[in-house]
This record gives sequence, C-alpha cells and structure tokens, in this order.
Amino acid sequence: MKDQVLVSVRSLCKDFTRPNGTVFTALEGIHLDVYDGEFLAILGLSGSGKSTLLRCMAGLMKPDRGQVVYAASVDRKKNFASFVFQNFALFPWLTVRENVELALESFPKAERAERTDRILSTVGLTGFEDSYPRELSGGMRQRVSIARATVSDPLVMFMDEPFSSLDPLTGESLRAEMGRLWTQSGRTIRSVVLVTHSLDEALQLADRIIILSSSPGTVHKTIDVPLARPRNSNSPEYLQLEEYLEKSFGELHLDKLTAAHYDTQELGRAPLSRPPGDLDGPVAGGPVSLTSDSQPEELSGAAPQTSPSVRLKPLINLSLPLVEGLLSFLAEEEKAGGSMDLYDVANEMRLRLDQMLPAVASAEMLGYIDTPGTTLVLTPAGHEYVHEQDSQRRQILLRQAVKALPVVAHLYEIVRSQGTEGIDRSMAIGQLALLLPFEDPEEQFDALLKWCRAVNLFAYDTQTELLVAVE
Ligand code: ADP
Ligand code: MG
Repeated sequence: MKDQVLVSVRSLCKDFTRPNGTVFTALEGIHLDVYDGEFLAILGLSGSGKSTLLRCMAGLMKPDRGQVVYAASVDRKKNFASFVFQNFALFPWLTVRENVELALESFPKAERAERTDRILSTVGLTGFEDSYPRELSGGMRQRVSIARATVSDPLVMFMDEPFSSLDPLTGESLRAEMGRLWTQSGRTIRSVVLVTHSLDEALQLADRIIILSSSPGTVHKTIDVPLARPRNSNSPEYLQLEEYLEKSFGELHLDKLTAAHYDTQELGRAPLSRPPGDLDGPVAGGPVSLTSDSQPEELSGAAPQTSPSVRLKPLINLSLPLVEGLLSFLAEEEKAGGSMDLYDVANEMRLRLDQMLPAVASAEMLGYIDTPGTTLVLTPAGHEYVHEQDSQRRQILLRQAVKALPVVAHLYEIVRSQGTEGIDRSMAIGQLALLLPFEDPEEQFDALLKWCRAVNLFAYDTQTELLVAVE
C-alpha cells in the first residue's frame, strides 16, 4: 500500500561531542516518512549526517530530541530491517554461504539452504558459495552483502552508500542490478532507504529523493521521481529532473562553502587583537573552544575589535595542488569551449562532489574564480595566475593571494610582530578561536599551516611548536 507509512521521523535532532568538548548538532529538526512500497534516497554531502540519520531510523541509535515512529504493523523484533554498508561488513573467516546464512538464524534449518541458494543465484554468485570474501572482487563482495540483506525478506532495507567504495564501472553495474531486483516480480522487501552522495545514483534508483543540507543536517527539499524503470538517462524527463536536482543540491552546498554572508571587505583593515592573558605565555586554559551556539558577541572584551556582524571565512583544509589542478583544468576547458559547469567539471576531473567543493571554495576565496549558480568562471586574477609560465612568479602570485586572506593576514601580522621568536602553537590556536568562533580552532591551525607553509609565509617547528613569519 503506497500511502501507508512504515517509518516516520519526527523533529529528530542528534548532537555529538567533539574531542575538544564542544557539542555540535549533526541533525536538526528532521521530519520525514518512509512509505510502504517506495524506494527512498537520502542525498547529501559527506558529513551531512546521512549515516547518523539512517542509524536512528533503523533504531540502532537514539535521537537526542524528536522520535522515530514505526507503523503498528511493524514488528521490530521480527525481520524489520536489514543493512548494507559501504565497506561490505562481511566476516572474513566465513564463506559466502555462511555470511548469507547469518541473516537466517530464526529460520528452520531446511529453509536456510534453500533460501541462500535462491538469493545467491539471483545476485549471480552461484558457484561461489564456498569462497571466502578475500577471494572475491569488491563488486562480488557487495553482492554478498546485498544477498545477506535480502535473504530473510525484511520489511525495509537500509543502504549506506553501498556502491561508493567500488570502482565506477562495477558500481554502475551493481546499481543497475539493484534497479532490476527492485522491479522484479515477487519482490518481498517493501521499502528501501538508500543513503548516497551521488545524484546519479539517487536519480537512477529512487521514487523520491530527500536532499539533506549540511551542518547541521536538515531536510532541504523533497523531490518526486515519477520516471519509468529502467531509467533512461537520455530521456527529456530524466534530463530535466537531473538539472533541477543539480541546481537544488549544488546551490545549497556552494552557498554553504562560499557563503556570501561572510563579509570579507573589512578584513585586512581589522585591528589586531590580543588574546586574553599575556602575549609571552600560552593562552590560559589552552585552546579556546566554544560551542557552535555561541555568538561572537559573547566574547566581548576578548573578541577581535571588528564589527560583531563581520564573520571571517574559515580556512579550508585541503591540498593546494588540487586547487591548481582545478584552475588549469578550467583554463583548458575555457580555451576548448567546454562546459564550466560544476558537475561536468567534477565528472571530467573524476572527483566526487565532496572532494570538488572544497577546491572550488578555496579557489573562490583566493579570488581566482567566481561561481554564479553552478558555473565556474576564472577571474582576471585567476587568468593571470594560471597563465603565468614562470613558476617563481606563479608562486609569488599565490603567496600574495594567500596572504590577503583575512585570517592569514591577521595571524601574519601578529606573528611578524613577534620577530624571530614567533608565537607558539597554543597562542596561535587561541587567536584562531577568537577570529573564528564557529570553527574548530585546531583544525583551522592545521589548515593554516598547510596553506602558509606551501607559500612560505610561515615557518613552523614541530619540535618547539613555534610559528615564525617569513618576510
Ligand atoms: P555522513 O554519513 O553524511 O557522511 P555522518 O552521519 O557520518 O555523516 O556524520 C555527521 C557528522 O557527525 C559528522 O560531522 C561526523 O563527524 C559526526 N559524527 C558522526 N558520528 C559521530 C560520533 N559517534 N561521535 C562524534 N561525531 C560523530
Ligand atoms: Mg556516512
């Protein structure tokens, strides 16, 4: 029955405590239903809380607020749910048959063998019953997981990025197979909840797609996919829906990362601040940490004397070579008249969206690209950089761009003012905590080192933990 709800998630929130003691909200006010008979996809970037949500839905984890309600017809003790994980989760010391039969403990012995044979044949593993997981390819191992998750006829199958650790071709063929399994007559699983960061995967398989935003994870949008199966990715309806989905997903996350609400104008001019305590000693109490709920105003006295409404852009922890790769790629595409759309570029560069977006955000921070909508455009500074043939001059350009980043500029002035003595790690982290109260200051410090050492703005001695400015 299509309109019967099997699992209902009501105002669900989930908090986690970071190692440094701050609490952050991973999921916020999640409201969703899983209908009987539907294939539901939950689409979000990595870190958006998909796995956490899935675990809460399956009853493996307790929400901190809100609840998960099951239909009266659902007996959670009896074959309610099964799981398929990204990393297969097979027991290496058991054979294929034994791994599958694990799901059949409540079944009569005679029925176990018969069911196992049937499901192994369905997923194309006949002949491999006595093999061990290590003897199988990744694709075959995931078939075993799918066999195990379906053999007992559970009501709902929860799948957590089941194809993402496979090579693309294998992933695609297994995904197609999943589509066939779903439409096969005599299917007993009533609903599937699939978590994925792949837009294509969601569009190929799902009846309905829920887009999750990040930090905290909230339901951003729900999209119906009324397309016939098997899905034809060249049909006008498919392409139209794909475009809509790309826009909804892409803009949401681009906004998050390159957010216009971070005001960068006043940065360079922001007066320097001193952390609480003495410049010569470490910051009292070690690194300052604040929960994500704190407002910058609460730091009165200790806060940088910029206007409280000014929020600085955090540094993004990534490799500069990836940014360089992106810029050269864009320059080539531009010359060749190719597509500069975020999704096409990610595809061409063989990068997942969650790998691509930090590079895009970094290039934008450096002033090398603009991102109207989901289009990537090289700025004049970007052109100058990418077309500079002399590697030393290139390095100088990059150094200037990094040095102009507000957070870097701020720290650089402080460190430079301390001359050859520099400042120590905890002092730098204290500064970062003041400048970026919403970020993890230790992560920001690591990012700062990555950026600044690459362009020789700072020298850092890991033994003495001293940070010294390079003129
Ligand atoms: P996704 O599956 O979308 O990648 P997760 O649900 O795994 O996201 O994680 C969401 C956020 O919650 C991430 O920031 C992650 O680091 C954090 N997180 C997940 N599980 C825990 C945990 N047990 N303890 C602390 N933080 C966690
Ligand atoms: Mg996950």
